[in-house]
Amino acid sequence: MTDRLRAELAAAIAAVQDLAADHRRIVEAAQGSNGDDEHDVEGTSIAFERSLADAALQRGRVREQAVRDALRRLADGSYGRCAGCGRPISAERLAALPLAETCIGCAR
Ligand SMILES: [Zn+2]
Repeated sequence: MTDRLRAELAAAIAAVQDLAADHRRIVEAAQGSNGDDEHDVEGTSIAFERSLADAALQRGRVREQAVRDALRRLADGSYGRCAGCGRPISAERLAALPLAETCIGCAR
């Protein structure tokens, strides 16, 4: 399981770096425009693109943190134990969702 999580972490970090690079490029493009979003068609689309990039970067960071949390739980021995009720999370659920923090009962 550790290997799989480490691979997930590497992928999540790489994704965040890509998203951060996209984000930076879009922010720089936005700074290059005249910034009048209300009346400038190009400015509006840059603002929209930027909001998408913000959201994507945010999701990427949340995922990276989730993998880091799972690795921390592996290290401290709490991995696979439900954060809600304290019972073990089923092997099937962990196989499908290695980052799961709760059992299926508590996730509902
Ligand atoms: Zn539970």
